[in-house]
Amino acid sequence: MYKNIFSSILLYLVFYQVALAELPACQPFRIHRKVTLPTPPSFSENSVLAQNWENSLVDKISAHDKTFKKIYWHWKSSEQFVPPPDLHAWLQCLLYYVQIDTDGDGLPDWSVQSDEKPARILYPFDTDIDGDGIENILDPDPFQKNIFPVDKNAFPKHLESSTKDVLHWQYELWKHFKILAIEHTTNHSSYVLKEFFYLLKKMFPGKLPLWINEIKYLYAFQNHDDKNNIAAFHFAAHAISIGGSNYYTHQLVGKKRIDFLSTLAHEIGHAFLLGAIKPEEFQELCEKFGWGEVFDNGVITSFNSSPFFREHPDSDSVEKAKKNNFVSDYSYTNAHEWFAEAFADSILMQSKIISPRSPKTFDRWLTYKLYSK
Ligand SMILES: [Zn+2]
Repeated sequence: MYKNIFSSILLYLVFYQVALAELPACQPFRIHRKVTLPTPPSFSENSVLAQNWENSLVDKISAHDKTFKKIYWHWKSSEQFVPPPDLHAWLQCLLYYVQIDTDGDGLPDWSVQSDEKPARILYPFDTDIDGDGIENILDPDPFQKNIFPVDKNAFPKHLESSTKDVLHWQYELWKHFKILAIEHTTNHSSYVLKEFFYLLKKMFPGKLPLWINEIKYLYAFQNHDDKNNIAAFHFAAHAISIGGSNYYTHQLVGKKRIDFLSTLAHEIGHAFLLGAIKPEEFQELCEKFGWGEVFDNGVITSFNSSPFFREHPDSDSVEKAKKNNFVSDYSYTNAHEWFAEAFADSILMQSKIISPRSPKTFDRWLTYKLYSK
């Protein structure tokens, strides 16, 4: 018995080490499928580290990104901090990438932070890495300074899907909402793009609000599925990501379709909050809607502040059932998720996708905010 446990722990450790060794400590985000990224260097954990290595690496990175030092030490002292086993390799990796500036314009190619934390996946910091005047994503080769005419109104050729139905919805989303649906680590499903288009049309039959610019891309990512990890919003990338054609093979119908639209609206809700509301206003809203207990004294000035990520104190209690602006169990996760859930519910109701009801306080607040900015 002991021996078995011991050997499985050993086996686990071996796997864990192998898994870590295979994953790069950090890596640049592939801007689009046709991009060949430079091969990342490998950083091994040195057995003997120079004293003060951490301060020294953080300082070197901060020479290229002035705000890194502050966010780094704040991250390390925050309540969500979990010590990563490869911190030394990670910092070396960030230092390597922050020094790259292809067009020499003083802006590092890659951002070493994401959501005010050190990044694993590095998004472009320079929106035009090769400095040829064509934004990275619209550039067939973002690392090569090739000047050629680009029609900014046309859907970019190098992002076109090879599937006719997908291409149709790529064009529609671009034409009506200036959103690029990009096939990334998997192919898009036309059924997904169609529902996304339908929902946006329902939400905005007329003029588009400014905050919709927070959503520039809809990526098809292989790590999503159609049940547990359906979609995500990536603030630093201005993108929503979703699963692809291997999961969505048919027209969505019935409850599955409603749930799917609700998930999409949830991700749009995250974008809306970050694009149209200020952290101070979000704090006030949270306090008004039952989140008062998660806040410390003082006014919050960042959406990344810890209180917005604290679980609701009623999460495990019977009080839960009495709260009428909490539309799902998931709403108790933290203030951000509560907001996205309430937003989705309200949007689906207003769009008559779910049964209409008399508007609640949250619905009225949202209607006012949604179309006033
Ligand atoms: Zn969410």
